[in-house]
Order: sequence, then C-alpha cells, then structure tokens
Amino acid sequence: MSGSDTLQRFALEGKAIRGEIVKLDATWRAVVERHVFVPPVHELLGQMMAATALLSATLRYQGSLILQIQSSGPLLLAVVECTSTLTLRATARWNDEITSTSLPALAPDGRLIITLDPGTGEHRYQGIAALEADSLAGVIESYLQRSEGLAARLWLAVDANNAAGLLLQRLPGRGDDNDIDAWNRAEHLAQTVTTEELLTLTPNDLLQRLFHEEDIRLFERDPVSFRCSCSREKVITTLRALGPDEILPLLEEQGAITVDCEFCNQGYRFDRVDIEQLYAAAIIDIPSSTQH
Ligand SMILES: [Zn+2]
Repeated sequence: MSGSDTLQRFALEGKAIRGEIVKLDATWRAVVERHVFVPPVHELLGQMMAATALLSATLRYQGSLILQIQSSGPLLLAVVECTSTLTLRATARWNDEITSTSLPALAPDGRLIITLDPGTGEHRYQGIAALEADSLAGVIESYLQRSEGLAARLWLAVDANNAAGLLLQRLPGRGDDNDIDAWNRAEHLAQTVTTEELLTLTPNDLLQRLFHEEDIRLFERDPVSFRCSCSREKVITTLRALGPDEILPLLEEQGAITVDCEFCNQGYRFDRVDIEQLYAAAIIDIPSSTQH
C-alpha cells in the first residue's frame, strides 16, 4: 500500500511540545534487499534510517542530511543519507567479529557524525558526538539537547521489513510551570510506547494510543521513499578527477574499470573505449569552460 512510508508531524495543542512519527516499510526493504546485514548491523542501520528521517524533518534545510557512525570495528561504518524531500539510502561496513548488539560493543571507539550538505558545493555543516549512551536514541537525544538547547526524546524500532521512530521535542518554553508539567507528562506517556506499537500502528493510532487525553494537531503527512542518487555521470566525474595516471594502470590490469555503488549495488562498467572518450572529452571541456 502506498502511503505506509510516511512522516507525520504533530503538536500538542496549547503546549510547547511537538513531535514526529516516521514509518518506513518499502523504504527499509529497498535497503535490506540490496545488502546482507548481520543482525546487529541490520538493527542499528534500521534505527539510523528512522532517526535520519526524523532529524531531517526537524532540522528543515535544503540539501542532504547524512548520519554516520564510524569506528575501528567491529562496525567500521554505517551511513544513512536523507534528502530534504525525504528520499533515503543507506549502507554499512563491518568486520567479522560482531557478537554483541549493544552500541558500545559494536563501535567501542565510535562517533556519530551529522553532516548537512546543501549539495551546491557550499559549506557543509558537521556535528560530531561521542557514542556515550548505550543506544543510538540516547546519543541523538543528547546531541539534540546540546545543539538545539531543547529537551528531546527519541524511540526507535526495527524488524525484518519495517523501521519506525517517534521523536518528542520541547519547544522554547513560555516560562510557566504548566509547560514543565506538560513536558513531563508527555514524556511519561510517550515512554509507554512499545516496539510492536511503533512498528505496527499507523501514526494516527499511535498518537491516539499515547496521547488520547491531549488535543493533538496533525500536520500534513510527508511521503518517504528510497532513492539512490548515484549515476554514470557522477562516476565519470570521479574518474576524471582521479585522472588517467590513476585509472590507466587499472585499465591495463583489469581490461575494464568497474565501479559498484555501495548504497544500491548498481554497477558501472567502463571499457577501454569509454575511458579513452572520457579523458578525451575532459581535454575538450577545458577550453570551453574558460570562455566566460
Ligand atoms: Zn547507488
């Protein structure tokens, strides 16, 4: 059914509290169909998918938000990219020693890197956080509290075919005691959410279940989908940037250059004629690009 991959923003009417729910079905399956993840990596990457969509919707900018965990192992790299139109892609690398599912065991010296890339070649913003909590949700909660100065709570859930998340954020308060009570109450209610509820209930049913005594304002739902931004043109740009000195010896050795996209597994193959054209075109490009 279309529409099950969705991001629902909401607010508690009259309270300085807003939130978002994300449900990933086909979007998550598009990632797991293209890779074979060991279970702890499957779990973490699904959590990162849901978290990245929620962060993307709350930070609201034009371009891409990239969430990465880097460590020296067992998890080497997990990366999720989300565009401002809520298209997602993800991949991960690890070594063979994964035994535990806890974040500190997966990435003992790891760090979380959040990059905002306007995609126009302009300056990228990057935030880095140590993995100081036991869960990804805990790490992101403290990151949001530090960077936005606002209390935030995050719940994430993953199974074979679905990933989902709930984010609750306190807005700049109006200063009276009611707001603190309202936040504590909302946090307490949201805390009762179960993994199964996150994965199976629609956003409406979930909000009804958690906050049925509250007046909830629903904003328009945004569709979420899988999309990889790789293309033959982008690979050509990379090959040109590397230059013939790097590429021609590889071509001699292998007979052709093949580049596989790490996110979607799409393969791009360049034979000798392709490579010769590519560098010949690069030389012709130089004078035309300096005309202005
Ligand atoms: Zn791709």
